[in-house]
Amino acid sequence: MIENTTKIKEAKKILKQYFGYDDFREGQRELIAAVLSGRDVLGIMPTGAGKSMCFQIPALMMDGITLVISPLISLMKDQVGALNQAGVHAAYLNSSLSTGQYLKALQFAREGRYKIIYAAPERLETGGFLDFALSGSVRISFLAIDEAHCVSQWGQDFRPSYLKILDFLGKLSYRPVVGAYTATATEDVRDDIMDILALRDPYVLSTGFDRSNLYFAVKKPMDKYKELLRYLRAKEKETPGISGIIYCLTRKSVEEVCYKLRSEGFSVTRYHAGLSDEERRENQDDFIYDRRQIMTATNAFGMGIDKPDVRFVIHYNMPKNMESYYQEAGRAGRDGEPSECVLYYEPMDVRTNRFFIENNKENEELDDITREIVKERDLWRLQQMTFYCFTAECLRNYILKYFGQAGAGYCGNCLNCLTQFEEVDITGEARSIVQCIKGNRMNYGITILLDILRGANNQRIRTRHLDQNPEYGKLAHVAAPRLRQIIQEMQYRGYLELSGDEYPVVKMNRQAGKLLENGGQLVMKLAKEKSGKESGDFEARAGKKGKRNKTGAAAALSEKDARLFEELRKLRKEIAAREKVPPYIVFSDKTLALMSSSRPQYEDEMLRLSGVGEYKLEKYGEQFLEVIVKWRG
Ligand code: ADP
Ligand code: ZN
Repeated sequence: MIENTTKIKEAKKILKQYFGYDDFREGQRELIAAVLSGRDVLGIMPTGAGKSMCFQIPALMMDGITLVISPLISLMKDQVGALNQAGVHAAYLNSSLSTGQYLKALQFAREGRYKIIYAAPERLETGGFLDFALSGSVRISFLAIDEAHCVSQWGQDFRPSYLKILDFLGKLSYRPVVGAYTATATEDVRDDIMDILALRDPYVLSTGFDRSNLYFAVKKPMDKYKELLRYLRAKEKETPGISGIIYCLTRKSVEEVCYKLRSEGFSVTRYHAGLSDEERRENQDDFIYDRRQIMTATNAFGMGIDKPDVRFVIHYNMPKNMESYYQEAGRAGRDGEPSECVLYYEPMDVRTNRFFIENNKENEELDDITREIVKERDLWRLQQMTFYCFTAECLRNYILKYFGQAGAGYCGNCLNCLTQFEEVDITGEARSIVQCIKGNRMNYGITILLDILRGANNQRIRTRHLDQNPEYGKLAHVAAPRLRQIIQEMQYRGYLELSGDEYPVVKMNRQAGKLLENGGQLVMKLAKEKSGKESGDFEARAGKKGKRNKTGAAAALSEKDARLFEELRKLRKEIAAREKVPPYIVFSDKTLALMSSSRPQYEDEMLRLSGVGEYKLEKYGEQFLEVIVKWRG
């Protein structure tokens, strides 16, 4: 134990010396200590929590080499780039290297030049790599497996080559310490990781899913594009130059949104599976290197994007399930700074997603029964996603509950927590809805149901004589979105359900009868109807806290400091362009904000700031000090 405390002290020193951070984040200390004591670990931490530090620091302290298995070239490049910037010799071995480069890297590795080597799992089987790994002079003391959920067929990102990791371990004449790290924590996946990788009595640590720096909101704008413009303009005014992602459901809407925003003068690019590999790579780099601020993309974009300073993720369409939503939204604010996740809901999205599920090509090879089960599951997930868009409870709470973690019930940092709700008796509306379905022996979907209740006079109504329904026009005074909300609530509470057909029909559940009985009552929470201009998410927050709520590290800066911050960002961009690395690898926004507010004059003052390690101080300190000192005047 005593030995362990000294080791942890040393680990903390390394954290500062190389990475410039003063303290461990939640879970890091325990996971590092376990590895240093020779124990296998399984670390489950949400995106952005700092998993890489959990294997990079032990790697720097242990004898021999640390081998990191990582599934994506972009992830490897990013981490290896960041390590080299911090003064750590590291390399990657993957298919992006030419044969010459690859052989050279192996040669250097054999000579012991690298403390950390990243490899794609496919490499573990190749002759050249095995020659190196099995040669007597090489000792791999620690095998770290990043994105370990790729080993599980339960997960969304199953990679068969991850199954080869165990074979590889078996070929070594000794056994390294093995650490597995992931952000996915369902029980199935967790068990798979431990079994398939054959972890030995692992120390398992899960820090929970909450990302407290993320603000969540669901909006149902009448005109989504207008709402988007309003949002982006407000953001740009508040903090110029910040980065954000806009996710769309289809390539077509990516194209559309990207084109329109570009013609408005926004710095925007795009990403989807219909573009050439080359264009995708280019556009992705433009975003990562801050040459373009806004990325419009389908869900094809994001795996392996480590950009820490994404300040907002907007879902222009509702995704297919909460897993995808949280993963995509979670790309905001990896650096822990305040960031926003806003979802625009539109009924059409439910239909589009349903279509994707019904026509899922990936499931074609499954047998009939399994395919049905998978479809049922996917439809259930879609429904849970839809409920998220309609819930009046704390959104964070809803998310955490979905992933099996108890939330606090009130977070104070989501649109629902900041909205005033009122309890509204909706029994009357609910009865009309049930009667209407009954009266029709209804075999219609939500849209027609709404048309009848609101007394629409269109062709569908006329040709099918739906105006004969006793409830026709009874709810003409209730706005369509509110009626939809009531129908959703009735579904959520088990009064109604949707059939699983291509055109889903609203059906009554057994419970529905209760509503028609005397004394049956239904109360739900509805947002107080706003008067005048619709209040947007950040305005709502400003009202609560009495100050403007900015996103990002500059949020707390005074106006003067914010101008210095901009200067420092400019310098950072120049340096990054010169060194061909993304700006955030030079210094994070947070570190620049600290420089702006504390304005160090000397190197030792600068070294005290979070994010400034010795190596970076030596490399860049002078240039940044120069700008700061000039500013101090
Ligand atoms: P993950 O792999 O868990 O998604 P990363 O390892 O990429 O997260 O870390 C996210 C960010 O947090 C990085 O910018 C990293 O430098 C930063 N970070 C990691 N550990 C610390 C720490 N102890 N203090 C401050 N920042 C940290
Ligand atoms: Zn909340």
